[in-house]
Amino acid sequence: MKTEALFRQDAYLRSCEARIIRVDGEGLLLDRTVFYPQGGGQAGDSGWLTLDDGTRLRIADTRRAKFDGSGPDDAMHMPDVGQDSVQARFVEGQLVCAEIDWERRYRHMRLHTAAHLLCAVLPFPVDGCSITADYARLDFVTSDPLARDTIDVALAELVARRAVVSIDTMTDAALEANPDLVRTMSVKPPVGTGRVRLVRVEGVDLQPCGGTHVANTSEVGAVRVARMEKKTARTRRVVLTLE
Ligand SMILES: [Zn+2]
Repeated sequence: MKTEALFRQDAYLRSCEARIIRVDGEGLLLDRTVFYPQGGGQAGDSGWLTLDDGTRLRIADTRRAKFDGSGPDDAMHMPDVGQDSVQARFVEGQLVCAEIDWERRYRHMRLHTAAHLLCAVLPFPVDGCSITADYARLDFVTSDPLARDTIDVALAELVARRAVVSIDTMTDAALEANPDLVRTMSVKPPVGTGRVRLVRVEGVDLQPCGGTHVANTSEVGAVRVARMEKKTARTRRVVLTLE
């Protein structure tokens, strides 16, 4: 199977035409999609699949496919519950319009980019990361005390800098030669395809990442530390939220 992951080249795509190539108990697989499957700490997209006759199937979540023979980009679009009679009309071979819940996804993109900025503000290894529409939560490996006000000011400065966010790639070999680029220890970059996807926040941060981001830090907007806690003796948890 092979899903073309359109969001990887253009995170701002809200919809696409696609063909259903598999339907099983997990959900629906498409030949191409704008839906981001949960991974790298970022939540999966929700949205709608619509047939030519206007029949709409509400998608609650998107996850990486796990059936035998599934490829790394294969994404299962998981229908919301209570739609059995609607879902029965979606079968292999049909064309659909796949449309994400853009309001929700755009918050993922803003908070995900804010997480990269936080990595620049707090230069410690990261051993956990979760990004939803409501918050970005990162666990930093450090026993240093962190000052909330200082972090808020530093984040605001990086947002105001209007730094460009771009996608680059690097060979597996080059990445192995630059292990410092791997900031998130719990989220290993996908290697084995020969090239690794890098996200560059101009002059601020560069790290391997497969998620969706805004194109300029100004789009992050008003972001602040909502909560900080000592998670373990060696880790500090920081939770960011949008105002
Ligand atoms: Zn990222």
